[in-house]
Amino acid sequence: MTAQLIDGKLIAQQVRSEVAVSVTKRVESGKQRPTLATVLVGDRTDSATYVASKGKACQELGMGSISEHLPADATQEQVEELVMRLNADPKVSGILVQLPMPAHINEERVLSLIDIEKDVDGFSPLNIGRLAQKGREPLFVPCTPYGCIYLLEKAGVQIEGATAVVLGRSNIVGMPAALLMIGKNATVTVCHSRTRDLPSVIRNADILIAAIGKPEFVRGDWVKPGAAVIDVGINSKPDTTKKNGYRLVGDVNFDEAKEVAGFITPVPGGVGPMTIAMLMRNTARAAEIQDP
Ligand code: NAP
Repeated sequence: MTAQLIDGKLIAQQVRSEVAVSVTKRVESGKQRPTLATVLVGDRTDSATYVASKGKACQELGMGSISEHLPADATQEQVEELVMRLNADPKVSGILVQLPMPAHINEERVLSLIDIEKDVDGFSPLNIGRLAQKGREPLFVPCTPYGCIYLLEKAGVQIEGATAVVLGRSNIVGMPAALLMIGKNATVTVCHSRTRDLPSVIRNADILIAAIGKPEFVRGDWVKPGAAVIDVGINSKPDTTKKNGYRLVGDVNFDEAKEVAGFITPVPGGVGPMTIAMLMRNTARAAEIQDP
């Protein structure tokens, strides 16, 4: 292995410890305890697990958590009323609406209702719009892309002036990651399912952020020697040696890429743990903004 491993588990733990210290200080000085409200609509087990782990993280860091659950047949009005109630609740610092919601719910409308000061997931059009504009600052940056950039900076990778490729253009990862990298003065190419000759585009990248959800898609010989590779993908791959019959792999072929890259994140233990850590950071910041 020639690449330096970027240990997301360790870095996420450091972020969480810093947040816990700041929460204790706030509460000791008589200020409001940062509190995250999660909104789950429906019964997807993966969504329920994500929401539960966010609530657990709040508890571990001394923050409050409120968990709201509406049934799968909840109406648009009910979801909107809940968001408006949480907007108005002074105990709530941050609101996280777990996506995806059931198909009959207009997600865009729901997200646009979240008070910008409580939008700790960073998906409200106001925060995304600010992220996309030169000279404007979003109050909150979406947690997974925020985690990617945080890992690069912690590893000492120079972003300014670098040629970066973001593979994937989803609203939750690829697009905001590309906008953040532009804001950090990288020269960014965004690739997607219609991109021609991906390997040759990726071979130019000093920094590659891969977020497409295709197991081990990026091969080692696509990676520029010495590049920093941030692998956002979380895919399960059949593995008969594992008790549960599968193991988690990223969007990059780790075994090949680690021999070429300068820096690389593992899966699991890379970007994954950063998402909740950055959510906790955003929630603590929301409390600071509302009650400095
Ligand atoms: P998504 O919404 O499905 O978007 C996938 C993107 O990849 C799309 O832009 C799509 O292009 C592009 N794409 C798909 N196949 C491609 C191909 N063969 N060549 C080039 N581009 C291709 O996925 P997502 O929500 O961004 O998630 C991506 C991965 O990140 C998943 O594995 C997910 O589990 C993981 N993830 C991890 C975290 C975390 O670590 N905490 C958080 C979120 C997501 P088009 O736009 O042209 O369709």
